Amino acid sequence: MSGKMVAAVESGGTKMVAALSRGPGEIIAHEKIPTTTPKETIYRLVEFFDREQSVHGKAEALAIGTFGPADLEVGSATYGFITSTPKPDWSQTDLLGPLREAFGGIPVVFETDVNAALFGEATWGAAKGFKHSAYFTVGTGIGGSLIVDGSLVHGSGHPEMGHMRVTKHPNDNFGGVCSFHGDCLEGLASGPAIEKRWGKKAEELPADHPAWVLEAYYLAQACVNVLTITPVEKIILGGGVMHQEQLLAMVRQEVIRLVNGYLKLQDAGELVVLPQLGDHAGILGCVALGQI
Ligand code: ADP
Ligand code: ZN
Repeated sequence: MSGKMVAAVESGGTKMVAALSRGPGEIIAHEKIPTTTPKETIYRLVEFFDREQSVHGKAEALAIGTFGPADLEVGSATYGFITSTPKPDWSQTDLLGPLREAFGGIPVVFETDVNAALFGEATWGAAKGFKHSAYFTVGTGIGGSLIVDGSLVHGSGHPEMGHMRVTKHPNDNFGGVCSFHGDCLEGLASGPAIEKRWGKKAEELPADHPAWVLEAYYLAQACVNVLTITPVEKIILGGGVMHQEQLLAMVRQEVIRLVNGYLKLQDAGELVVLPQLGDHAGILGCVALGQI
C-alpha cells in the first residue's frame, strides 16, 4: 500500500536532493540542485516541485533533512533556520519558511540530514524493528544521530556526536581539522582530516595504509562512547569514507577490543553495520518523516 506523497529535500552543503516520493521504490520525481546562495537554491527547489506537482499531483507533506547546525525546535523564533554554519551566505538562514510558504499550509517536518538518514534506516533499513539505534555519517564532516525508545533525540539543538572527544592514537601526531576543537572526532576522522594528515585524498589511500588503523581506532571509540550512553542495538556507519570496504571489519574488531568484555556486547557484526538504504538513506528518511 502506498504512503502519503511527500515533497522531500535532503539539504547538503554542496547539493540539495529533492524528490516527490511515497517510499522506497516509489520515487516519483527526483532532482539534484547545487547548493549556491540560499535565494537561488530555494528558488530552484520551488521550481522543481511546482513543475513536478503539476504533473503528478500535490504533495501531502513537506519534509526537510538539512546540514546543520539547525534549529529544530517547533515554536522557536528561528525554527527551520540554519544557524551558525561557517558555510558562506547560509548562517542564520530561514530554509523552511520560504519552502513552507510555497507549499501553502501542508504539514512540514524539519530535521537534520543525519536524523533523517537514521529515521529512514529505522523505517525501511538496517535499524528497522530496533528501539535504540545510532547513525554516524563520516564524510566532509562527521554527523551523528540517535533514536532512543523509537524517537529521534533532539530539542532546540540536536546531538553533535561528530564533535565528541576521543583519545588520540599513540602514533598520531596530527592536530586535527575541526575549526572549533582541533582534535575532536570530526577533527581527526573526517575525510578532510584523513586528507590533511596523509597529504592525499582518502579515496586514494590503499586498503592496507596505516590511515585505516587510525580511522578504525577513532570510529570505534565513537561507537563505544554511544554504547556506554544508551544501549543501542544498531550503530550505522555511512558517508563517503565508509566506502572503504576494509574499514567496517576493522571498526568492529576495535569495538570488541575497546569494550574488553565489560559490556554485554552482542556480536559486533550485528551491532555495527552499513546503511541498508545506501546513499538514499537521507532522502528516504525525509519521506518517512513526512509520512508520520
Ligand atoms: P558529504 O559529507 O560532503 O555529504 P561524502 O559523504 O561523500 O559527502 O563525503 C566526502 C568525503 O568522503 C571526502 O572527504 C572524500 O575524500 C571521502 N571519500 C569519498 N569516497 C571515499 C572512498 N571511497 N574512500 C575513502 N574516502 C572517501
Ligand atoms: Zn569539533
